[in-house]
Amino acid sequence: MSINNLTPEELEAYAEAHGEKKFRGKQLFTFFNKSGRVDLEHSNLPKNFINQIPRVDDAKIFRTYVSKLDDTKKFLFELNDGNLIEGVLMHYKHGYSQCISTQVGCRMGCVFCASTKKGLVRNLTSAEMLRQVYTVEAAYHIKVSNVILMGSGEPMDNYDNVLKFLKLLHHPQGHHTSYRNMTLSTCGVVDGIDKLAREGLPITLAISLHSPYNDLRSDIMPINRKYNLEELIAAAKRYSEATSSRITFEYTLIAGENDTRDHAVALYSLLKGLRAHINLIPLNAIEEYDKGRSTAEAIQSFKKELERLGAEVTIRRELGSDISASCGQLRRNFEGGIL
Ligand code: SF4
Repeated sequence: MSINNLTPEELEAYAEAHGEKKFRGKQLFTFFNKSGRVDLEHSNLPKNFINQIPRVDDAKIFRTYVSKLDDTKKFLFELNDGNLIEGVLMHYKHGYSQCISTQVGCRMGCVFCASTKKGLVRNLTSAEMLRQVYTVEAAYHIKVSNVILMGSGEPMDNYDNVLKFLKLLHHPQGHHTSYRNMTLSTCGVVDGIDKLAREGLPITLAISLHSPYNDLRSDIMPINRKYNLEELIAAAKRYSEATSSRITFEYTLIAGENDTRDHAVALYSLLKGLRAHINLIPLNAIEEYDKGRSTAEAIQSFKKELERLGAEVTIRRELGSDISASCGQLRRNFEGGIL
């Protein structure tokens, strides 16, 4: 494991095991996580110590796509082994939010998602997740205040590395991001939700729902065949209670599939009694999925119906819609020679 995956305590032990004073471990941690750097040759650590340190994990910005419509930037990052992953930087009034990837590819098979079309390639390390944030911060001289795990990959399918990443990002001697400003988005891995609830960390949970009916959800999200809606909503309730937090439900509106009044009513009933926020997302079409996005009128009617019933609901603002849209499309288009 590369050493920029380690905690201050692990780095102290590393320093001592390599004949250095313990404090060198903390120095390494702040170099990696407060300065956000990996160019050890420019640190003030002793040369003979640096020479013993093997290569560190990195995620270098390989391509940047800047929206002409707003300040959104989308990135392809290159990992040390040449794999490409993607991320998005969004500028809001309250600061910068960055969406990061947790795996190269994904094995969850959601039909509307480009990231899963070639399956899972590999898990990212915690440091590869950190590097996505730190390289963007260094490139634009900014501080990212919100991190969203919603790029390629299912975070619960890489649980240990994801959890370590969140803890490292939160560490007061490092980036010191509040857990409340971290959002983990899952397609509905119930075991993972329960495990995370037991950690006792107030991480914001987002669940991709996309249908209030088991049959349709199983068609578009195979995870539903393992954990059905009833099990998923029960886990969401447990998570909400354990962390005293509101759960976000992502609902992508697909024309003629899940955007009728009946769907809105069923969605409301499903989430009744839960501290929930519904985020409606207009579908970004991909080649392999022959459905289109709902019309603007259908989206508004769906929202109004939910509001009439008393749900908290927003329509996700489409940022950077002129640059290759949803999760997985940049990597796929680039590798397919389209970008
Ligand atoms: S939507 Fe998320 S969980 Fe589903 S296939 Fe895509 S990356 Fe994986």
